[in-house]
Amino acid sequence: MNNRKIIKALQEAMILGKKEIPKGRVATYIPELAYRDKNKLGICIHTVNSEVYRIGDFNERFTIQSISKVISLCKALELFGPEYVFNYVGMEPSGEAYNSLVELDLNHNRPYNPMINSGAITVAGMLCNEISFDEMIDYTRKVCLDKGIESDRLTLQSEMDNCARNRAIAYLLESKGIMASDVEDSLLLYTQMCSLSVTAKSLASFGMILANDGVNPQNNERLISSDVARTVKTIMLTCGMYDGSGEFAVLTGIPTKSGVSGGLLSVVDMKMGIGVYSPAVDDKGNCIAGRPILGHISKELKIHLFQQQETDL
Ligand code: GLN
Repeated sequence: MNNRKIIKALQEAMILGKKEIPKGRVATYIPELAYRDKNKLGICIHTVNSEVYRIGDFNERFTIQSISKVISLCKALELFGPEYVFNYVGMEPSGEAYNSLVELDLNHNRPYNPMINSGAITVAGMLCNEISFDEMIDYTRKVCLDKGIESDRLTLQSEMDNCARNRAIAYLLESKGIMASDVEDSLLLYTQMCSLSVTAKSLASFGMILANDGVNPQNNERLISSDVARTVKTIMLTCGMYDGSGEFAVLTGIPTKSGVSGGLLSVVDMKMGIGVYSPAVDDKGNCIAGRPILGHISKELKIHLFQQQETDL
């Protein structure tokens, strides 16, 4: 792909993203998120040819929050296989907010998908008997190609002090017989995973690994199996932006997962990973600058999943 074209698209995307920021708000449910500078904006692209393009606050550390749901899902699918995992959690968009429990209570005996809190707490329940948080940190560092990833202790403490709703979800899951391990242990691992500190660069690198079929192109090491990478990318496309997933998919055609701290992980299959950080989020908890940024990059680089490619077929 043409270098200059990528750099130009990134510069333009920065301008479009900045314009959108005033319409959003930083999350305020814990002080560590509320005190974030709303005007920060960073974007990073990591291509499968090992080129890295970065702009703005691409190196700023922030907590990964819900993007960790992708990492936990990868690990659970690797450890237990899809049959086991999808017996406990579905793969359908919920059309509800990320922390909703109504649809789980009223209609279903399992969470709609692993990208919402109820689904991710279920996945954490599978993992926590098998793997320690330290091992999950190591795995996250590996797939993000970032040795600097740590748990942000202050955020973790605040989250644990303010997790009544997630605790309610966890006990509802327990009441339905869905939790594979102790409820409090599962809730803790879920919350610990949300506290990992990443950058737009780490997310771009993780996206690049997923785009490259789970293989690190630098040393040809397979980090994620091909089947798992494919499944996870598909679920990101249909469920990664909660009840905004459909509109985002139409606009960008790029499988993406958001976190309430303002991060976005995007995967352009066979081509690149894109990481975005901008802490102002919309009313669904998705980075508000993300729509114009990824919409523009998608259009300019012609990387919408269903973009007509110029081939001779
Ligand atoms: N820690 C947050 C929660 O569990 C993460 C949610 C999110 O990023 N959307 O509520």
